[in-house]
Amino acid sequence: MLRVAVVGSGPSGCYTAQSLVQRDPGVRVDVLDRLPCPYGLVRYGVAPDHEKIKSLQGSLAAVLEHERVRFLGGVRVGPGGLPVERLRELYHAVVYCVGAASDRRLGIPGEELPGSWSATDFVAWYSAHPDAADAGFLGGVRSAVVIGVGNVAVDVARMLVRGAAELNPTDIPQAALDTLTASGITEVHMMGRRGPAQARFTTKELRELGALPGTEVAVQESELAFDPADPGTLPGAQRRNLEVLRDWAERPQAPAGRRISLRFFLRPVELLADGGRVGAVRFERTAPDGQGGVTGTGRYEDVPAQLVLRSVGYRGVPLDGLPFDPASGTVPHEEGRVVRGGVPSPGEYVAGWIKRGPTGVIGTNRPCAKETAASLLTDAPVLLGERVPEDPVPALRAAGIEPVLWSGWLAIRQAETELGARLGRSVVKLADWDALRTAARSAQPGRV
Ligand code: NAP
Repeated sequence: MLRVAVVGSGPSGCYTAQSLVQRDPGVRVDVLDRLPCPYGLVRYGVAPDHEKIKSLQGSLAAVLEHERVRFLGGVRVGPGGLPVERLRELYHAVVYCVGAASDRRLGIPGEELPGSWSATDFVAWYSAHPDAADAGFLGGVRSAVVIGVGNVAVDVARMLVRGAAELNPTDIPQAALDTLTASGITEVHMMGRRGPAQARFTTKELRELGALPGTEVAVQESELAFDPADPGTLPGAQRRNLEVLRDWAERPQAPAGRRISLRFFLRPVELLADGGRVGAVRFERTAPDGQGGVTGTGRYEDVPAQLVLRSVGYRGVPLDGLPFDPASGTVPHEEGRVVRGGVPSPGEYVAGWIKRGPTGVIGTNRPCAKETAASLLTDAPVLLGERVPEDPVPALRAAGIEPVLWSGWLAIRQAETELGARLGRSVVKLADWDALRTAARSAQPGRV
């Protein structure tokens, strides 16, 4: 039997495990995750109101319940946990599917002011990530600026204006639901540094903004007209985005209690303080350079905001013991094989965002995982020459790591169902480490 560890139980990890066991009946896979809960960004990144996308958890669960796949939660790989070198001794091969755990920075003055957050911090909070704190994101906030026009920006802008009726049926933690629905926010400005034809959001996500109860969407005709792009020559996705935006600009929506303004050709240059925290963001008006980029015009606009969410993309972080390319935030690889000192290193593989960078939708991970699995299985005859333990779990326990098994995760799910019932809601996520550990322990008495 070829024993493989997949590090990370998000979509790329699950699709890698699936591809391996489907292609080769002689493979067993342990899917490790530092959290006691599986599914990575599907659980901790997809917005709670995107229930259809979240339902993907069902098909990822089927992978983790496969007879030759085992979920081992609560296993941190790297500093503070199991070193990469030790993990390599326990398995014939390791596939790192650790995603892009950090966020890009703006690198402008004022970025660290209180009230300025990475969108990923905000997402982690409303997604009940146990490392996320309630940072008082919304206290005293009337106007928010979201920097960036990708799908994460759309997610956070939408969540900022959602009401109780829409959030109550979701699995959002109770504290986040109470805070969001009680907030005094009336304006959300979503800011793109380039033109609407270069926006990264997808049309389905964009359209959703126009259907939010109690919220109007505002688009400035002049900013659309500024874009020299001929819609006829644009790829379909961008053309459809422009059509939606033009429709909003030409047929303004009825005024509502809340408004999302979509702005373009404005690049952030400074966050301005007011009373020791952020009070506004200064933008420089940009102009298209004719090649898809922009240049500054020396004209500025200040947009008031008591909350700034920087939604300018994720970024991979280095894992001790693995090579890393700081320019791309990825691990160098050839067809999924980790490249060390310029040559592919059999036995070490990558898939997902740590392999190709933080782009693409969940489905993009399927072909990416397949490529990596194919490389690994090609190397299998060599890899099988290594002696590894029949079962690595005793070695994990000897290293002081007690894995949360699938039964532990199911107990967490059960506790979340019971919490929901007590609150008169459906499933409600547990949002802290203690609650997750206590629930997992109930299925593994004496362990965890
Ligand atoms: P993204 O798609 O890369 O968008 C990042 C945005 O930030 C772009 O508009 C970018 O503008 C802007 N930006 C970057 N640096 C900037 C700077 N210094 N100043 C101002 N703006 C800056 O990233 P994302 O929204 O985090 O999404 C990551 C991936 O997850 C994407 O593939 C996305 O589709 C996916 N995702 C999908 C869904 C969904 O399907 N519902 C939901 C969430 C995320 P430029 O283009 O000018 O660089």
